[in-house]
Amino acid sequence: MPTAKKLSRPLLFLGPPGAGKGTQARAIAAHFGVPQISTGDMFRDHVARGTELGRQAKAVMERGELVSDDIVCGMVAERIRRPDGAGGFLLDGFPRTVTQAERLETLLREAGWAGPLAVNLEVSYTSLIRRLTGRRTCAVCGEIYNIHDRPPQQPGRCDRDGGELTQRADDREDVVRERLNEYDRKTKPLIEFYEHRGALLTVNGDEAPEALTRRLIGLLEPARRGGLAGAERRA
Ligand code: AMP
Repeated sequence: MPTAKKLSRPLLFLGPPGAGKGTQARAIAAHFGVPQISTGDMFRDHVARGTELGRQAKAVMERGELVSDDIVCGMVAERIRRPDGAGGFLLDGFPRTVTQAERLETLLREAGWAGPLAVNLEVSYTSLIRRLTGRRTCAVCGEIYNIHDRPPQQPGRCDRDGGELTQRADDREDVVRERLNEYDRKTKPLIEFYEHRGALLTVNGDEAPEALTRRLIGLLEPARRGGLAGAERRA
């Protein structure tokens, strides 16, 4: 018997680096009981394991540039076909270019999915810099903290499992600037792409992470049952 759908359409998170995509995607995916597919996490995992793909991606990531569309799309195509995504999934950090968004449409059509709903997190430039430079991630469970806005109880240690909190190599200030440039040049046009399809939900992402998660859950609940079909709104 086919798996019951937990989401009527895939969700994806748009927004500049530091907008809170990873933090929100993680919480929202857990709420709906679907996998969070983060291309950035997948690349970091390949780099850590020293695979061929990781070797190719590492230098590009360290410069704050985007990995080639072919590599990313191939990786996503394989990932979304796995059984854990049969009930729905949430994409975090993909697509990042118009080419990727077009390929995603084809992939989803082939897999029998409706077009995705894009959640666009809008955040001020000052908040982005503060979030990126303050971000620390648990090396064990991947939980995300911020030394300014969401510090752990014990400095440098994860509240959940005591794992060491580490800073991403590409959160250094010079790389951050290049990542924001890449976003402006290549990813920002996706806002218009999804707006044209009536599939964009723009949300002010400046508020505290927990409050934003609660608001997003309220807005996205209709996505369980085919609501939000033609979403195009600002909330
Ligand atoms: P993220 O964790 O989403 O900020 O991604 C970290 C880095 O991985 C990016 O700066 C890119 O170098 C690479 N990356 C992640 N997702 C993509 C994508 N969809 N297209 C191209 N490069 C990506």
